Amino acid sequence: MNRQLIVAGNWKMNKNLIEAFSLASEILAKAKKMSDKVQIVLAPPAPYLHTINSMSKDIAHVNIAAQNCHFETSGAYTGEISAEMLHSMNITYVILGHSERRKYFQEDHKILAKKVSAAIKAGVKIIFCCGEPLEIREANTQESFVLQQLEESLFHLTEAEMKQVVVAYEPIWAIGTGKTASPSQAQDMHQFIRKQIATKYTTELADACSILYGGSCKPSNAAELFAQKDVDGGLVGGASLKSEDFLQIIQKRAKQA
Ligand code: PEP
Repeated sequence: MNRQLIVAGNWKMNKNLIEAFSLASEILAKAKKMSDKVQIVLAPPAPYLHTINSMSKDIAHVNIAAQNCHFETSGAYTGEISAEMLHSMNITYVILGHSERRKYFQEDHKILAKKVSAAIKAGVKIIFCCGEPLEIREANTQESFVLQQLEESLFHLTEAEMKQVVVAYEPIWAIGTGKTASPSQAQDMHQFIRKQIATKYTTELADACSILYGGSCKPSNAAELFAQKDVDGGLVGGASLKSEDFLQIIQKRAKQA
């Protein structure tokens, strides 16, 4: 398999300055000694991005992600951060399409399509989140729901641009709930997403695209999720806030590399 294995930690709006730097230090100290088979991504809150990026710059298999960016390059948008700013700070990734941004900040397909374009134009790679709410899963219409998210916000990219995208499948009913998608539910959806990428672009591109699972991923369930052939890694929320848990998840991914 020529796909990049990735374990990403989304810290969301957690940790004060001291806590954030000590969490980053603990993870980086161990990451330094780990094999580079797994790319580790840390997505701390925006105020800590620059310092944590500097702290990690000597570890090639660690990259930093922002949790959001605006679609404009600059201007009178108080409180916002542009993809250009992230690029100027050498930030590698931005997470876009997270269900919390969709829910609490009204980010719809159109806004996300603009953010996706802005990030790519600025030279920032994307971790694009998709995933269905519980009622859609119960109605068994999750595939068309996820396909619409991909078609409306991501599939306008060219083939070259799409190479800068990592997809994260995050069923909303599994985020922060302790409920995980079963390994076969995750595999089915990852395979479906890969097939859609192959149909829209090429099989080569689809085969090279890393697809991460997110939703209550923790040390106790990571191995069985990562054992699925289309699950290339994880986007981890709650369990990324404790260095031991996050490091254990990375180790589970590395073991199956
Ligand atoms: C997330 O919000 O991206 C996530 C996967 O959260 P959790 O691991 O806490 O479910």
